[in-house]
Amino acid sequence: MTTPTARWTAAVSGMTCDACERHVTNAVEAIGGRDVSASWSEGTATFNAAGIDEAALGAAVRDAGYELGEVRRTGDLQPVADGDDVEWDLAIIGSGSAAFAAAIKATEAGARVVVIEKGTPGGTCVNVGCVPSKALLVAAEAHHRGRSHNFSGVAHIAGGQPDLAAIVAQKDELVGALRQAKYLDLIDAYGFTLRHGTARFIDADTISVDDEPLRAANYLIATGARPALPPIEGLDAVDYLTSTSALELTEAPARLAVVGANAIGLELGQAFAHLGADVTFLDIAERVAPFEEPEISGALTDVLVGDGAARRHRRADQAGQSGRRRHRHDRRRPGRPGHDADRRPGAGRHGPGPEHRGAQPRLGRRGRRPARLRGGRRVPANHQHPSLGSR
Ligand SMILES: Cc1cc2nc3c(=O)[nH]c(=O)nc-3n(C[C@H](O)[C@H](O)[C@H](O)COP(=O)(O)OP(=O)(O)OC[C@H]3O[C@@H](n4cnc5c(N)ncnc54)[C@H](O)[C@@H]3O)c2cc1C
Repeated sequence: MTTPTARWTAAVSGMTCDACERHVTNAVEAIGGRDVSASWSEGTATFNAAGIDEAALGAAVRDAGYELGEVRRTGDLQPVADGDDVEWDLAIIGSGSAAFAAAIKATEAGARVVVIEKGTPGGTCVNVGCVPSKALLVAAEAHHRGRSHNFSGVAHIAGGQPDLAAIVAQKDELVGALRQAKYLDLIDAYGFTLRHGTARFIDADTISVDDEPLRAANYLIATGARPALPPIEGLDAVDYLTSTSALELTEAPARLAVVGANAIGLELGQAFAHLGADVTFLDIAERVAPFEEPEISGALTDVLVGDGAARRHRRADQAGQSGRRRHRHDRRRPGRPGHDADRRPGAGRHGPGPEHRGAQPRLGRRGRRPARLRGGRRVPANHQHPSLGSR
């Protein structure tokens, strides 16, 4: 068999509502258009067809009460040739956000699409990434704000540790609901196929899915990424966390070293700090969020330090038993950012108190400089953590 063909976008004027979209859709279907999607807000109708008779299309649209404008070919599909033994126009390996976006678009364009997933459908974002991390972050912030906001007349939550097991259970519920609504439900709604199994290429044109061959005219590899382990000596001998397993903890750790102070490290580190952990960020970059503008790094640093951070001129290069860390000590320079003097008692959630703003330290002006959060608690200027040694 031969599948379509091409995607077309036609400008259609005169549509003002959902009913207009239906009228235009009917008109386009009447002249053989498939998978029509009309939009009154954009003034367009897109559809699949092998070719178009513009006069016939214009007449159909006019009969429905609208005006046809420019018609453009906006996409081509690689058709499955007659007699070819391929079953699919497109096989997508992976079922994360990239895979679903491609599957939806290709299906809309008339392709027969199969999505192959070896793990949990939905991939990183909904299962172990954006969604659960933000759920944890917001719950942790609620707890933290309840204890440490600066509003007169609003009672603080007294004592008590948050119930992380309950937070994680609620987060899992949210993940399950969003996986269903934003991924699984779309499979039938758009009309593509999900196959469970591990895909691998067995020749240039064929993959196997759990040892069963599958051929498609086109393949898209959307297999994402997984947490990578940095080369820290001894890491394999300790019970480390990754971004995935950290989101499954049911008790906040007392102390947590976060290796990497970019988006994911910062959000998970801040969440656990807000849940009461004593958090140290370690990064080889010069500043937190190193790929952002320096002003953004500075603003983020203000927030972290405002949560009670102190800086340490150290980096982890070895991990010991029971998660004990060893550090290389940079030379301390009194009066430089990072020295004890950078600890600012009275710093609130939104940054240092006004008396300290001028002296606000920036993390990582030089070398590898971790920031250390103290679970949202205020840290006295002379505080020293026994396990981390002197500064
Ligand atoms: C903690 C955390 C927080 C994040 N927060 C954000 C955020 O706030 N905003 C943002 O934009 N991004 C965020 N991200 C990044 C975002 O989640 C990823 O960039 C995005 O999910 C990647 O999507 P993807 O479709 O490319 O891959 P993935 O979602 O990783 O999907 C790949 C899929 O392929 C499957 N697979 C791999 N190999 C095979 C195979 N051989 N056969 C079959 N299946 C296979 C995997 O099982 C997986 O399900 C975050 C990531 C993490 C870890």
